[in-house]
Amino acid sequence: MHLGNELEKKLSEFPQANLCNGPSPVQDLTNLSAKWKLDFELSIKRDDLLGLAFGGNKSRQLEFLLGDAIALGADCIVHGGAVQSNYGRQVAAACAQLDLDCYLVLSDYYNQKLDTGSHLISQILGAKIFYFHEQLGDSHEIEKRRLSQSLEKLGRKPYLITYPKSEILGSLGYLKATLELSRQLPADRFPQRIVMPAVGATYIGALLGLKLLGYTDVEVIGVAPLLDEYPIETTVLDSMKAICKLLEIDFQSIDAPKINLDFSFVGEGYSKTTKESLGALVDFAKYEGVMLDPVYTSKAAASLKSLPSDGKRTLFWHTGGSPAIFAYANEILEHINP
Ligand SMILES: *Cc1c(COP(=O)(O)O)cnc(C)c1O
Repeated sequence: MHLGNELEKKLSEFPQANLCNGPSPVQDLTNLSAKWKLDFELSIKRDDLLGLAFGGNKSRQLEFLLGDAIALGADCIVHGGAVQSNYGRQVAAACAQLDLDCYLVLSDYYNQKLDTGSHLISQILGAKIFYFHEQLGDSHEIEKRRLSQSLEKLGRKPYLITYPKSEILGSLGYLKATLELSRQLPADRFPQRIVMPAVGATYIGALLGLKLLGYTDVEVIGVAPLLDEYPIETTVLDSMKAICKLLEIDFQSIDAPKINLDFSFVGEGYSKTTKESLGALVDFAKYEGVMLDPVYTSKAAASLKSLPSDGKRTLFWHTGGSPAIFAYANEILEHINP
């Protein structure tokens, strides 16, 4: 509790927007455990139910990013991703709630659908959308910066969400989430293993948060949704150091948390479904009434089946993304009715 109060105090020094309406529920997945013949207790933390237009992990991250934006006097936000970006949808919803204008630079390079899923929702939410025709990466970030600069020239006060700030401030949302979990579950029900999709802020915040709260034996497995498009492992370590610096914690003084990333469920690459991921998506729905998403959570969920039979209480952390099922309707239906 002492460590919890300390972390709470440090986090409270950062400006935050109130977007989550947490805590997100923790539920037992007893039907699925039986069907999958898992020899450990499995539960789920429902961040898919957390605020902002169909929910997701960006609700927690945006509390800190948009808190920062408002503290700096911003009147609009610039961000982006792929056309079906969950982040784009959630930032558009947050901007609507906080009365900020939302500008998105969205890449249509990946042949994703425009009239459904998160992209439909972002349009309904009133985001001002600019299309970008190349892959995500440096040139996309340059394009976002260019848009932000042109808004400045028009006398606006844009807040640009970009790496590494997005990852560092965003991770604070998941440090706070570990505090939420520690207060939600008694010690004898606290997970011994956590499984979640991992790219950046979510995994970093969860891993570091549990460490700072003294849960040193909890294994945190990040299941990657992409291969070498993005160097997850090095950024996790770099960002943990940067966050510690920001929080005035000596990183050397805590023994570094074990980074445990699993790349074996990616399949052919980012946003490409696999037989296992579609199977997990359908089973979570059929046996538990929980909707996963095809890009992130269904790959992480598929990994649960191959965990060792060690009886460790396991928590699957749902990070959201379910509106993407509509953009993958054909593949999902094909899987159900081959
Ligand atoms: C963005 C996203 C992730 C990855 O989040 P990070 O914080 O970058 O790790 C995982 N799942 C869903 C559904 C997402 O939208």
